[in-house]
Amino acid sequence: MYEKLELFIDGEWRQGSEGKSEDVLNPATEEVLGQCPHASIADLDQALDSAERAFEEWKAKSSWDRAVILKEAARLINERKQEIGQIMTQEQGKPIGDSIGEVKSASETTEWFAEEGKRAYGRLIPSRIPGQRSMVMPEPVGISLALTPWNFPALLPVRKIAAGLAAGCPVIIKPSEETPGSGVAIVRCFVDAGVPAGVLNLVFGVPDDVSRHLISSGRIRKMSFTGSIPVGKHLAKVAADHLVRCTFELGGHSPVLVFDDANIDTVIKHMVPFKYRNSGQVCISPTRFYVHEKVYDDFVSRFTEAANAMQVGNGMDAKTQMGPMANGRRIVAMEEFMQDARDHNVEITTGGNRIGNQGYFWEPTVLANVPEEAMIMSKEPFGPLAPIARFEDFDDVVARANRLPYGLASYCYTSDQKRADQLAEALDTGMVGVNNFMISMPETPFSGVKESGYGYESGAEGLEVYLHHKFVSQTGM
Ligand code: NAD
Repeated sequence: MYEKLELFIDGEWRQGSEGKSEDVLNPATEEVLGQCPHASIADLDQALDSAERAFEEWKAKSSWDRAVILKEAARLINERKQEIGQIMTQEQGKPIGDSIGEVKSASETTEWFAEEGKRAYGRLIPSRIPGQRSMVMPEPVGISLALTPWNFPALLPVRKIAAGLAAGCPVIIKPSEETPGSGVAIVRCFVDAGVPAGVLNLVFGVPDDVSRHLISSGRIRKMSFTGSIPVGKHLAKVAADHLVRCTFELGGHSPVLVFDDANIDTVIKHMVPFKYRNSGQVCISPTRFYVHEKVYDDFVSRFTEAANAMQVGNGMDAKTQMGPMANGRRIVAMEEFMQDARDHNVEITTGGNRIGNQGYFWEPTVLANVPEEAMIMSKEPFGPLAPIARFEDFDDVVARANRLPYGLASYCYTSDQKRADQLAEALDTGMVGVNNFMISMPETPFSGVKESGYGYESGAEGLEVYLHHKFVSQTGM
């Protein structure tokens, strides 16, 4: 069964006041699953009014009282993970086990922020004047806008909702209109847990119309966007007019450096499922493999064999390891990457083509001997393509890894501790995985450098971005 798609404004589930909506497709079958309602301008203004009213009440609640509600939301998300997982697989495509796993992570993230809200500590600064108190008091920044994409339609909304609410901010969320059911189902958990009217509003619409109207109202004090670099740059300009604080998570082009002393069994075991996870539509997906000359041929043949063995199909089928891509735009993009790869005489060791003509399926693909000039070495593929290139020299491979304007994640494999330390410092990304890829957890900061964005999600830093530290100088007691 698919989710009933509704807006949630000022404590009420309902359709948009002008009755507008758009089709939601199942990417495995291209069938219409439902109608995503669009909020009108009046609906957006009502969401803002209710958030403004609710702010005082939510801010005044103790962090312990807020935590009770958030923990109940976490419990409900976990309790409903099978149902929400099925909604997600239908609208987004990923295998059902991965969808359920994502919902479980959403529950853990909510639980973690419920507790972390209790640790928004202030400070007492030793005074230079007798009788004076210098106090630093954290306060929620105000109404926060969360804009989330289609690739992780449960976890990404939760990272923003749970952190904002734990800090004491009302949140208006606009999840992707292409995967609205997961966002609706997640918001239902917060509502059913007792989040007061106005503290959480859920809207959909034409993305630019919604974000522009809300940000330009001057009533939004914080915005957090996950998506593409061009849209991030555009939103940064809109936000600048009102000096809205921003967090941007804008994707990357993550290099994987495999040295000749690496345990190749481990690299293959980690990196093949990770590369094809969510059909490669993951911002921290490994997207450029640089493999030492001495182990290159062995690596390519083992990677190819493992990629070849992947089961591709409808995500609702328990045997499926890789589902379809999320939308037709990704097929067009893969075709462009493949045409460019062929123009550069790249060796295609497996895959390279669309599967069938119904649903957005693409073969797990491995590209060998890829020159640095090929488009795929500079543009984020966001699909199941694994380009593999050779290297010989440490400085050369680090320079190639750091060459792009992206700086989200990087990975390296070596058994030499000194080299591991050097790489952790030299790789210019917000997150580095050394002999592993565990870089996304509720308790650890998730962020990029350069054009991958700024600000943080998750970790203590992910709460901090929703707080302002007010300074109070007091005398006369
Ligand atoms: P896109 O750039 O049009 O949209 C990306 C996301 O931003 C979508 O969810 C969309 O609804 C939203 N969006 C677009 N314009 C907006 C606006 N003005 N205000 C608010 N939200 C807006 O492209 P796309 O085809 O959906 O995805 C293409 C590329 O985006 C991918 O190749 C990838 O590089 C990037 N992307 C990154 C992530 C991530 O996790 N960082 C997620 C999805 C897409």
